[in-house]
Amino acid sequence: MEKKLGYERKSCWLKYSEKETKEVHSYAEDYKDFLSRSKTERLSVENIKKLAIKNKFSESSKKTFFIENRGKNLAIVKMGAVSPLKGINIIGSHVDVPRIDLKQVPLYEKENIAHFKTHYYGGIKKYHWLSRPLAIYGVVFLKNGKKLDIAIGDDDNDPVFAINDLLPHLSRSQNSKTVNEAFEGEKLNIIVGSIPLKKTEKDAVKANALEIINRKYSIVEEDFISAELEVVPQGKARDIGFDRGLVGGYGHDDRICGYTSATAIFEAKNKKTACAILFDKEEVGSQGATGAQSKFIEDIIIEILKRAGEKPTYENIRTVMKNSDLLSSDVSCGIDPDFQEVHEQNNGAKIGYGLVITKYTGSGGKYGANDSGAEFVFKVKSIFDKAGVTWQTAELGKVDAGGGGTIAAYLANHGISVIDCGTALLGMHSPFEIASKADLFETHRGYKAFFEA
Ligand SMILES: [Zn+2]
Repeated sequence: MEKKLGYERKSCWLKYSEKETKEVHSYAEDYKDFLSRSKTERLSVENIKKLAIKNKFSESSKKTFFIENRGKNLAIVKMGAVSPLKGINIIGSHVDVPRIDLKQVPLYEKENIAHFKTHYYGGIKKYHWLSRPLAIYGVVFLKNGKKLDIAIGDDDNDPVFAINDLLPHLSRSQNSKTVNEAFEGEKLNIIVGSIPLKKTEKDAVKANALEIINRKYSIVEEDFISAELEVVPQGKARDIGFDRGLVGGYGHDDRICGYTSATAIFEAKNKKTACAILFDKEEVGSQGATGAQSKFIEDIIIEILKRAGEKPTYENIRTVMKNSDLLSSDVSCGIDPDFQEVHEQNNGAKIGYGLVITKYTGSGGKYGANDSGAEFVFKVKSIFDKAGVTWQTAELGKVDAGGGGTIAAYLANHGISVIDCGTALLGMHSPFEIASKADLFETHRGYKAFFEA
């Protein structure tokens, strides 16, 4: 009797049949390949767009189409039989990830070593980025207007880059500082060269680096000003553990939700119109023309109305929004076995225990949270139950332990019903985040059920 009355969570792995377990691992293989090839927000959009095209979506189609915004946002839409005025089912994720950006005048030489100056993007622990191989990705616009795509470090024949850390022998003073004081943003300088150019008097190593960069890419120093170059961890996503149950990789937050929402919409047999949106700039507050605070959501709804043969009047746009449901599909933090003191066990996500529903985020008394209504929590959990999705509820750590936000509140401001719902991670915002393959699979399964609701 006690068992029936109580709320209990179970490991996903225990419910899977042998066939399902195989399916879970096989789904993770495709995801790992996507994650390894999608090191920037631009590449994530590009690679998901390619998948959409493979699944018969196009820019011009009336029923299955996508809308791209500045190479950093993508909306994938599958029209339903029901009028969009009755509401649409939207899943919004973000594909920007904490990283280290190059400054606009990055190259300098110090002690005969050439470096790139950087400015980090999003919430990182700076020491995570020291003493490890790094890759550089991004775009550069040359003086003649030509756009160059840059990807250096992940090909076996490429060099890699690195930020040096101080040796322990001379770290006595550093060791006595707080972590924040010990690692300064202005010291996240990337080593890019060490060989001097012959017959050069001043900054010969920098000169040599410029020479090589120019020979290979036709870039001159001024071109860095019109570039977006992102320093990211080098290497592929990998299985973790003897049982291969976990995936370690850079950028699970939040490309795991971007990928699962895309594969879910490809497979969905939806009655209502379904829409998966990839946002940018979440890690720095969702501002700007590609962030979730932009009017991109309105542009998408206007396009949906037009393709459904409805007039995109203000009233119609408002009607769609008021009747629509949205999962703010972002990652949650799993209970960290080594730092249990920051979690509250009953309301923390367990790794391998399924898709996470988060009623509210925020910090310091739910400040900045969307805090979804009980009606919508009920609706979403019922959808998952009906589809046999393993899910759990969690908040982001103990009360007053810290906190964070997502895109949820910005989209809810439009009058859309919104709740946070995504995959739990260990080591969130680190260069090697960890996700369970079971949670990855249940996320895909849950998103598909939501689209089909
Ligand atoms: Zn996120």
